Amino acid sequence: MGFEDVLLTGLASDGGLYVPESLPHFSLEEIRSWRGLSYSELAFNIMHPFVSDAIPEDDFRKMLDETYAGFAHKAVAPLVQLDTNEWVLELFRGPTLAFKDFALQLLGRLLDYVLEKRKQHVVIMGATSGDTGSAAIEGCRHCEHVDIFILHPHQRVSEVQRRQMTTVIGDNIHNIAVEGNFDDCQKMVKESFGDQSFLGGKTQLAAVNSINWARIMAQIVYYFQASLALGGPDRSMAFSVPTGNFGDIFAGYLAKKMGLPISQLVIATNRNDILHRFMSGNRYEQHQLEHTLSPSMDIMVSSNFERLLFDLHGRDGAAVKELLENAAKGPVSIEDYRWRHARKLFDSDAVDDKTTCETIREVFEQNEYLLDPHTAIGVKAARNCRRDPSVPMITLGTAHPAKFPDAIAESGLTVKPELPPHMADLFEREERYTVLDNDVTGVQSFIAEHWKNA
Ligand SMILES: *Cc1c(COP(=O)(O)O)cnc(C)c1O
Repeated sequence: MGFEDVLLTGLASDGGLYVPESLPHFSLEEIRSWRGLSYSELAFNIMHPFVSDAIPEDDFRKMLDETYAGFAHKAVAPLVQLDTNEWVLELFRGPTLAFKDFALQLLGRLLDYVLEKRKQHVVIMGATSGDTGSAAIEGCRHCEHVDIFILHPHQRVSEVQRRQMTTVIGDNIHNIAVEGNFDDCQKMVKESFGDQSFLGGKTQLAAVNSINWARIMAQIVYYFQASLALGGPDRSMAFSVPTGNFGDIFAGYLAKKMGLPISQLVIATNRNDILHRFMSGNRYEQHQLEHTLSPSMDIMVSSNFERLLFDLHGRDGAAVKELLENAAKGPVSIEDYRWRHARKLFDSDAVDDKTTCETIREVFEQNEYLLDPHTAIGVKAARNCRRDPSVPMITLGTAHPAKFPDAIAESGLTVKPELPPHMADLFEREERYTVLDNDVTGVQSFIAEHWKNA
């Protein structure tokens, strides 16, 4: 399976997730030679081996330049120091103020490029509870060959969240507010993927969810970038990563396998702590979903974790398939030596809402620096799990605090997180969305009638 096909299809034919057959490996000397490169140049060096012949070098460079020029900081992913050897890597300077822009801004361009070449069109359909829809929409705004329809529950997302989606105006951008809840939206998406006949065979649905391999690939880059900025690869680094679907931290694990000296990777979860429970007790077990102050990490199962299980099982797809089938029925464990190996690769911690708020307050009092609740979980886990104070500890800052004002208020601070200047007029911008009944046939007809060449 080539890069193009992996890009266009989410799941492998056996129902599993794609992983590359082999990873490129970079020597210390080669990594060292990348010091001083711009973010986009570095991104080229790291991703080109995966993309290889699918896109000519010049076109790929241009795509990366455009992608990362859209970030509101020249360094793209700046580092902020919290304490001696303690840092936050700000991954929220993109158009929607969260780290998902790193991947989705690129994914939109990659998709469009491949579709242009193949003279094809796709309809991206997705549901959002508020936080992640905007990154997908922003990623598609310049696409010629992609229409995107994002369903959100009408009047159940915050005004900032709604406006981040509905003020992106374009002929190929379609926001649908469904008179129902998030589950209703998700059900409609699932049903539509299951039977696409409503599109009349003229186009096809595509998903850009967190299991898309290209998203993980794009996230490997900033581990290298942060390390190079702090003296890597001649020093090793520790990273703490606020985790939901295990995508972002899996990228860190790959960076390490590709040759970047990383001595510690911390999985930081909220109360939805299936990963932390597995890491501490070798029991992988679904619990009820908990709604927390860090909603982008509210998950029951962690979809990319399957990719790690594949490695832990010596890349035996059949063994992982069986394990996951059992995991859908009840708690599972893996062989002790495999689990011990996982514990060598990762540390973990789970942080509840109260401690999240305490951390936001503490860091603000110590540094006059506001953390969003997801990043606060990363910082807290980093402080709890840190092994070697001489190794720089870098927490991935996954969202801008202005996206989650409720958590800041709940932490007892009176300071209000301000939207950055390029977003300051969000509340004055024109909005465009359509309210539809909670009825899948109506939603499907709307899509069939409104995509570009319908
Ligand atoms: C998506 C998201 C996460 C979790 O990322 P995963 O790749 O799913 O682990 C963390 N923080 C924020 C702000 C997010 O949007």
